[in-house]
Formats: sequence, C-alpha cells, structure tokens
Amino acid sequence: MHSSISLYDSYLCKETRAKKQQQLVKKFKTPVITIKAHMPKELRKNGYVAEIIEQAFQSVKQTLSQQGFIIVASDDHKGFAGEERYLAVQCRSASELKKFMMEIENSHSLGQLMDLNVMDGEGKTISRGSCKMSARKCIICNCPAPECAKRHQHNLEELNARIEQIIEESMVTA
Ligand SMILES: [Zn+2]
Repeated sequence: MHSSISLYDSYLCKETRAKKQQQLVKKFKTPVITIKAHMPKELRKNGYVAEIIEQAFQSVKQTLSQQGFIIVASDDHKGFAGEERYLAVQCRSASELKKFMMEIENSHSLGQLMDLNVMDGEGKTISRGSCKMSARKCIICNCPAPECAKRHQHNLEELNARIEQIIEESMVTA
C-alpha cells in the first residue's frame, strides 16, 4: 500500500478550522493568526506538536506586545493529532502582521516547523506572495516547498529524522 505524503496537508478537520477562524473574524473584524505545526500529519502524533505550538505562541505574543498589537480574543482546537490556536489581533495592518509572523518562521530555532497563517479582517488569507516573500523552503532539500510537496520526494522516515534534528538543535541553542 502506498499513501501519499505531504508536508502541507492540514491535519485537523478543515471545516472546524474555517468555522473557528470565521467566527473570530465576524465577531471582531480584526486579522486572525492561526498557529499550526508545519509537519506531515502522519508525524504529528509524535509529541513534538505541543512544544512547537507553545513556543510559537510565546514568540507570537512577544512580537505582538513589542508592536503594541493586542490579542482581543483567542480560540483553539485540539484533535487527536495535535492542536491549533487562533488569535484575533488588533493591529495596524494584516500584511504587516503577516511579515512579523514570517520573521518568526524564518528566525526562531523551531520556525521551520511552525505555520503562522494570517487572515485579514475580512477572512481572506494573506499569502507570502502578496507580501513579496518567496515560498517556504523544504526542510530537507531547500527547494521551494510547494514544488517539493508536489513531487512527494521525501519519505516519512527521512522527514521524521530531519524534524528530530531541528528539535535537537533547537534544544542545544535554547
Ligand atoms: Zn524537499
């Protein structure tokens, strides 16, 4: 049996996520950050997810407070394969918020394993492209991730080893 693997699959019920995101947007009319782990859904039960989400959350909170942005509400969704968090944020602009989130993804020692999605106050996702940022790079081959994902180049074992390596390195530098 062969199952296809993608780093970029969503691991929780998409409808549940969309519902929670849209509820926040509708109620607060602010941009919404979604914090997820950036790893294959097959590997998300490995216990790293909670740590990645928590570190991402702490980093996001710190950045927001430095910018004077305010979390007006939050929600989360816990499934058997991990957790996601949603934050409604009062800020100057959604694209500016997206840039700060990409800075965390690029600079945090676990940033390669974080997925910090931003929606604007109308519920539209802000893409990297619209902020003139290049696509994420694959954590193994450094190719643009969407291209690599399409080709399904890496097996789970390889990905798991690389994820463990990133986490170990992060503990050394912490
Ligand atoms: Zn790759």
